[in-house]
Amino acid sequence: MNSVAPFSRRQFLSDASRFSAFYALAGALPFPAFAASVADDPRVSQTPIADAGYASVRKIGGGLYATISDTSKGFTTICNGGFLVGKDAGLLLEGFGSPAGAAFQMDAYRKATQTPATGALLTHYHFDHSMGSAFYGANGISLWAHATVTKRITENYVAMQGVDRAAFLAGQEKHVQAAKTDAARQHAAGDLAAIGNVFDMANKTVIGFPNRPLDASKLPLPLDLGQFPIVVEHYPGHSGTDLIVRVPEQKVAYTGDLVFNRAYPACFDEQCTMSGWRNTLKTFASWDKDTLFVPGHGPVCGQEGIQNLRNVFDDLAEQAEKMHKAGVPVSDAVDQYVVPDKFKTFGVFAWGFCIGGAIAKLYGEMGAK
Ligand SMILES: [Zn+2]
Repeated sequence: MNSVAPFSRRQFLSDASRFSAFYALAGALPFPAFAASVADDPRVSQTPIADAGYASVRKIGGGLYATISDTSKGFTTICNGGFLVGKDAGLLLEGFGSPAGAAFQMDAYRKATQTPATGALLTHYHFDHSMGSAFYGANGISLWAHATVTKRITENYVAMQGVDRAAFLAGQEKHVQAAKTDAARQHAAGDLAAIGNVFDMANKTVIGFPNRPLDASKLPLPLDLGQFPIVVEHYPGHSGTDLIVRVPEQKVAYTGDLVFNRAYPACFDEQCTMSGWRNTLKTFASWDKDTLFVPGHGPVCGQEGIQNLRNVFDDLAEQAEKMHKAGVPVSDAVDQYVVPDKFKTFGVFAWGFCIGGAIAKLYGEMGAK
């Protein structure tokens, strides 16, 4: 075994199996790139221009492409992305979970066009959208993001680099040991695996930072790539750093994690707001009925994807209110939410990151303890 190898095959396999242990929750079945409702949409092409298994790239409009990840086949990209190509310039979306993920999308971009890519935009700071950003820096592509992304990445992921893994995870280990019910133990163990995976990714990665910070108070930002107007907008909800890219003429929106399609929303972020997010989804629902959404995770969808997610938020809120009225303390309520049959096939990245986080936020927004 070569001792200078970045990590051994055994290490890779153990990472992969730990990843699959917690992503197994996210639905065992690989999903299609397009939701059934938009599979026949004349704007979309079923044939990928690039397909690596863990992600594929398809045309979804004139000069518009979506990169759709399938985590049942690997964790190189993890999130969705895409790119927009005009006559004069191209804009890539997302840094993905690793530089190899960003490189995969760049290869697809070069297959699609000769137009130079002048920028790459992160929809927000989370690891699965940002850990591959150094690829862009190395290739002379400017990195655009919400102005607070550098600070948030530093606080959350740089803070993990070079520190002792066991010490870092000790707090969460205690939660697993202290769990009072089987469900709570299972949830805490899943969260521990997720935190461990994020820790490992942050430590493996040379983190890249945006050199084009966008001040949210100055958005929306219209951009001209030389073919169709696009607009970068900020909406509250998922992370406090959320940007979307919209192509109004073609009724296409790249929403980042403000939309999870066929998955529970990740609500762990300290700046996640349930009321803000639900208002944002109300705005998305008010857009044209033929709008195509490229979500942060899950297949490309139409308005039915927004409706599904709003239904998930409604159910989380209904159950939180019921438990609150019944006097269930938040520490128990986070584990007592019941996934209804209609959402049983929806992915859950990790219970505490998604459902537990949502219930705690909802309690907080009700002024409850
Ligand atoms: Zn996110």
